[in-house]
Amino acid sequence: MLQRVDRRQRVTGRIAEVFFSIQGEGATAGTPAVFVRLQGCSVGCVWCDTKYSWDPRAGREVALDDLVEEASAFPCRRCVVTGGEPLESPLFSPLVQALKARGFTLEVETSGALPPPPVAVDQWNVSVKVAGSGVPEAKRINPEAIRHFLALGAWWKFVVVDAADVSEVVRLAERFAIPRGRILLMPEGVRREEILERSPWVMEECKRYGFRYSPRLHILFWGARRGV
Ligand code: SF4
Repeated sequence: MLQRVDRRQRVTGRIAEVFFSIQGEGATAGTPAVFVRLQGCSVGCVWCDTKYSWDPRAGREVALDDLVEEASAFPCRRCVVTGGEPLESPLFSPLVQALKARGFTLEVETSGALPPPPVAVDQWNVSVKVAGSGVPEAKRINPEAIRHFLALGAWWKFVVVDAADVSEVVRLAERFAIPRGRILLMPEGVRREEILERSPWVMEECKRYGFRYSPRLHILFWGARRGV
């Protein structure tokens, strides 16, 4: 497995990158944060903009203590733990606990395919995948996990490609009683031009259904670059 505990009980795992930027999307878009991108994701969205984070054997191996030091070196005590699918990483829970102990406010980006472990996260950003992701429904919709995240007051972010995706968001909101005011729609796209082209349509859909529009600032300003 990726995680191992050696004779000194050092927790290790693999990460894709650590960087200091601003939150690019969701309820806290625009907020400075340290990003820790954990390695590994088995969800497989066709439009994923971080495919380098999929392979759990890729990235670099780090010891938990060193990772916490690396994150703490930035002049910011807000951290976004992302992936990949961070809940697939054996580093996830020990990392959250260690960062909380260092005074970080924590956001977690997850696909919602797995239920949340019992750790103290300040803000869950759950991006349940709809059909346009190309992921089979049985893999992307986990009712038990969705109910857990609802109980934790999560924010819900949906990347949408077309009207069928928005209709699915409406159905999911009704099926799971997700408050519409907690739902954000984001235009799909890995290039600035795609985001700009889809955004007016997404905004109209938000007005129609009472959802909230989310920009994707990192793509708007830096495109598909890593570490931003
Ligand atoms: S869940 Fe996230 S990291 Fe995994 S494939 Fe989908 S968009 Fe990419």
